[in-house]
Amino acid sequence: MQRALVTGGAGFLGSHLCDRLLADGLQVIAMDNLLTGDLSNIEHLFANPNFKFIKYDVTEFIHVEGPIDYIFHFASPASPIDYLEFPIQTLKVGSLGTHKALGLAKAKNATFLLASTSECYGDPLVHPQKEDYWGNVNPVGPRGVYDEAKRFAEAMTMAYHRYHGVKTRIVRIFNTYGPRMRLRDGRALPAFFQQALTNEPVTVFGDGTQTRSFCFVSDLIDGIVRLSRSEEVLPVNIGNPHEITIREAAERVIKLCGSTSQVVCKPLPVDDPKVRQPDITKARKVLGWEPKVSLEDGLRMTLEYFKKAVAKQLAAKKNGK
Ligand code: UDP
Repeated sequence: MQRALVTGGAGFLGSHLCDRLLADGLQVIAMDNLLTGDLSNIEHLFANPNFKFIKYDVTEFIHVEGPIDYIFHFASPASPIDYLEFPIQTLKVGSLGTHKALGLAKAKNATFLLASTSECYGDPLVHPQKEDYWGNVNPVGPRGVYDEAKRFAEAMTMAYHRYHGVKTRIVRIFNTYGPRMRLRDGRALPAFFQQALTNEPVTVFGDGTQTRSFCFVSDLIDGIVRLSRSEEVLPVNIGNPHEITIREAAERVIKLCGSTSQVVCKPLPVDDPKVRQPDITKARKVLGWEPKVSLEDGLRMTLEYFKKAVAKQLAAKKNGK
């Protein structure tokens, strides 16, 4: 039986990855310091004998007993408000954490997969973004802690590959949505769902003409698993090329929720990228992958989750928690 370590295993993407790997017949160790991850994302796995959770901060030396075949390095705060709240932890997990996880991959002769990001492209001057675009990142802006940590992580990953011969893979993840996103993680879709489901004003930042391309979580995880089993060392974009404006995203969520909410405009955060759309030619060619879930279907599946999450939140408020 193959064994995988998932750092950030209690997070949104990490927990879905654990589910998928277990379903594929692997043993899975999830590691998370629960800074932004949540045990509720993995509690359904606790009874599974092939699953183990270790609460741990991967910026410290990582020790795991026994063989490991795959390391998926997903630990990091990942939403703009998280890395504004935890700037140093974000930098540390991207740099020190990546170093430790790579060291473990080398020691165990494991395949290492880095969860990188479309943020490597910054506020892009090339559209859509291809993997050979070097990006337009402000290192000293508020988003710099995340963008530069991930860029450093990519460089470190390539160094371990070139110098130590570690089998490494790098996925550049574009905006992804689905069940288990935190209601208050500040990202556009969770914010819009929460606001629409409680009939509060839906906050569009700027004039809402900035664009994003949203990928449903099951598609993303499938692309990542395929990449881990491929031979591709250089970064691969995984995301859904269906690009929409943020205003349109807000309006679609309001309509889907049958909400009476109105859109209100708020100031645009510093260095907020104006456009973002993955060019997935490489993923199609190298991995035979492309997304299957339409935005309409994905939003409907996500609505079911957010309805429950909002009901839970309202009940907790009522009980004075
Ligand atoms: N955004 C918004 N309202 C919100 C949260 C986000 O209009 O309540 C905007 C944000 O300014 C950005 C886009 O939606 O232009 C996507 O933001 P998100 O935080 O989801 O991810 P990003 O792609 O910026 O990392």
